[in-house]
Parts: sequence; C-alpha cells; structure tokens
Amino acid sequence: MNVPLLDLKAQYQAIKPEIDAAVQAVFESQYFILGPQVKACEEAVAAYSQAAYGCGVSSGTDALLIALMNEGIGPGDEVITTPYTFFATAGSIARTGARPVFVDIEADTYNMNAAQIEARITPHTKAIMVVHLYGLMADMDPVMEIANRHQLIVIEDAAQAIGAEYKGRRAGSIGDYGCFSFFPSKNLGGAGDGGMVVSQDEGKAAKLKVMRNHGMQPKYYNQFIGGNFRLDALQAAVINVKLKYLDDWSRARQANALRYNQLFEESGIGSDQIGLPWMPRCTNPAYQGECGCRHIFNQYVIRSLKRDALRDHLKDLGIGTEIYYPVPLHVQQCFEDLGYKAGDFPESERAAAETLALPIYPELSDEQAAAVVSAIKGFIG
Ligand SMILES: *Cc1c(COP(=O)(O)O)cnc(C)c1O
Repeated sequence: MNVPLLDLKAQYQAIKPEIDAAVQAVFESQYFILGPQVKACEEAVAAYSQAAYGCGVSSGTDALLIALMNEGIGPGDEVITTPYTFFATAGSIARTGARPVFVDIEADTYNMNAAQIEARITPHTKAIMVVHLYGLMADMDPVMEIANRHQLIVIEDAAQAIGAEYKGRRAGSIGDYGCFSFFPSKNLGGAGDGGMVVSQDEGKAAKLKVMRNHGMQPKYYNQFIGGNFRLDALQAAVINVKLKYLDDWSRARQANALRYNQLFEESGIGSDQIGLPWMPRCTNPAYQGECGCRHIFNQYVIRSLKRDALRDHLKDLGIGTEIYYPVPLHVQQCFEDLGYKAGDFPESERAAAETLALPIYPELSDEQAAAVVSAIKGFIG
C-alpha cells in the first residue's frame, strides 16, 4: 500500500472551494502587500496562540531573524539554543553576527534540556531560543525562570508547534516572541512561504511591524535598518481559511498517533526494538486537562538502532518517511568555526542517528497506519 509521508492534495481537495474563492478575492482586490487579509491573519493567529499581537512575515526563518533584530542582537552576543532542530534556528542567530551556543536535548522529548542552560550563560548571553520540536512544547517553566533571573530574552521557535500547549498555555505565548512558519508541510501551511511573530508586548510588536518594512516610519524615513520581511496577502488569505480547520487537523493527528501506539502495542514490537514518541498523557482526550499539555504531532517520530535499513525497507514498500534531522547543527560544516566537535552533545547525536518520522498527516487512514506498522513488523521479523 502506498503511504506518502504527507498528502497535501487530500487536504486541498477537502477545502478547495473556500481556498479558491479566497485566492480569487485577493486577485480581484489587487491588494497584494499587507492590507486587510494580512491584518486579519495577524489578529486571528495571535488570538489562536493566546498572544496579544501578531506580525506577519515572509517565512518562519525570517520570523526568528526579525525577533533577534528587534532586540538588537548582533556581533559579540550569544544566544543559547539546541543543536537538534532545523537549520534556521541557529542559522538566524549566526546571520545577525551573534554566536549560537548549544545545549543538548532530553532523550525522550527531543527538546532542549533546560537543566543544561545555566552553565552556558556568560556576560555575553542575550537570549534563549527554545524550539518546540515535532509539535511538543519544551519544558518552559525552568526556561522562563532562568531567563527572568538572568534578564534574557526568550524566543520560542514554534514553527512546528502552532496550537501546542504547555500547562494550558499555547506555543508562542510564553516567551518574549513566538515564531511560526506557514511552510506548506507545517500543521498550518500556506501556498508557499510565510510566517508570523507573536508577542504579548505592545512596544515589541509595534517595532516588529516597522522592522519588517525596512525600519521605515513614516514612509521613506528609516529609523533603523530592517528589511523586507512582509507576509504576502495571498498567503494570509489562505491561512485565514485554513486556521478554522486547524483544531480538527490537530485532533486527527493526535488520533493517528494514538492509533500508531496501539498498533505497535498489538504487534508485539518491543520498546527495545522501536522507541515510540513521548506522549503527554492528556493528548489522550480521556486525560484532557490532567497535565494541560497538548502535543500537535507535526511529526510522529520513532527510534531504531537500524534506522537507515528500516527506512530503505519502508521505501521499497511505498511508505514515505523522513529523517528530522540527520546532522546536528554543532557538527554542520558551516558552524566549524564555533569550535564544537562530535561527542559534545551525545543525545542530539544519538537522535540524529536513530530517529525516523512516519506519516501522521490528518487524512491518513486506519488501513494506511496499519500498513506502516505491519511493514515495520516485517522488517523486525
Ligand atoms: C520549518 C522550520 C523553520 C523555518 O521555517 P520556514 O518557514 O521554512 O522558513 C524554523 N524552525 C523550525 C524548527 C522549523 O521546523
């Protein structure tokens, strides 16, 4: 059975009339830069994320970059983050001229290990960029406690976590800035690149809006050096339609995750053979509210010591998978000058060698999920 990693055509078919009408309306208006669709999108995404203000930007990467620029972070500064994430997290830090300083992840959640942050703080540290990987929020209480004590800015890379919750609080709403991506493969994907920065702070939010438009206010008077980081009206129109469906899609992803867990259990595959994702108990509706955590499963990621062979086996059977991410950032060639070496962050390196993302998209059928687990069972023998 063919099981793609992601099936965006299935999602489009389900909402095609609405999307097509929204796109058509933008063309009729010829209002492509900022304007009412972008404003509506900013208000809706901010409200959805329990944040006061939203600023639509050109991508998730630019969301991270503009948040750093908004704080004047640059050469001589250090920003603490994780090496087990998409490149943009540390890439945005390095692009400002600041230095990414890594701490390792937790083996079970794949998120930054907050217990290691404090030892990396120096007089140059300006911010912590925390990532909510795969749709599960990082342990924010200790991160915020440390940041408050040392007066550090907290930027949440919530590109994979829109709508995720930590003790009842949404991704992006806890730190100084929350950064989202509308890249098509994210849970709330546009028809191209797009992103959003949210903040609870009126002053920071107002500055972001000037920063994303060349630092220009009023027109042709530049207060500081910003850039063109604007969200397209077309993307905003698509996001405005899709946001209404996001909770349905997140619930479908959670149901698929629980189905996988059950199928693995029934198959008799041991946890020594395949490691399953860490599940907050209340992701299961039966436990709703117990710990207030909500995993939105941008990815369902398993572990195997024979990961690469398993991936080849699944590919031969028509099952799509992906490795997020095969090379931790501290050993990327472009970061050689940071002076890190293999062995510095053992949990990140082990995750990079062992993890595999399975299809988890909302439209995945029971038969497809069963086919994935039975193919893995066949590999294990
Ligand atoms: C996707 C992603 C980004 C970058 O988002 P783009 O919209 O592709 O620029 C940043 N961080 C993480 C963790 C991501 O998954």
